[in-house]
Amino acid sequence: MAFFNQFQRGVDLAKFKANQLNRVNKLQNEIANNTGEIQNIRKEIVDTVLLLYRSNSEMPTQLVQLCTQVAELEGKIKDLENTITSIRSENFDPGTAVAPIAGNEGKFCPHCKKEVPINSEFCIHCGKKI
Ligand SMILES: [Zn+2]
Repeated sequence: MAFFNQFQRGVDLAKFKANQLNRVNKLQNEIANNTGEIQNIRKEIVDTVLLLYRSNSEMPTQLVQLCTQVAELEGKIKDLENTITSIRSENFDPGTAVAPIAGNEGKFCPHCKKEVPINSEFCIHCGKKI
């Protein structure tokens, strides 16, 4: 009888632990779901604040500063993307790339980026004003 009691105790303990684990797992899943929902809401908060900032709505100074930082970074990214686009559109020109114009100290057209004579007012390549 003592053995049976001990066995029964072991079974009960295993059941108890399985039940405990099951309930903890369920709660942990729920926590994970809630945490995910918080992440979504946080993103929505950020989007809403940025929207308010862009529509010049009244906002606390701290938020305005953060939004300004985002706007500056967005501007930088746009500049960088434009630079990438212009780099990608560059054509290899061995004439200007290899032989610099005599007496030139490295003046380049701001429009087509090719080397131009130092005193020129208009680009000899694309014709635009320098
Ligand atoms: Zn040019």
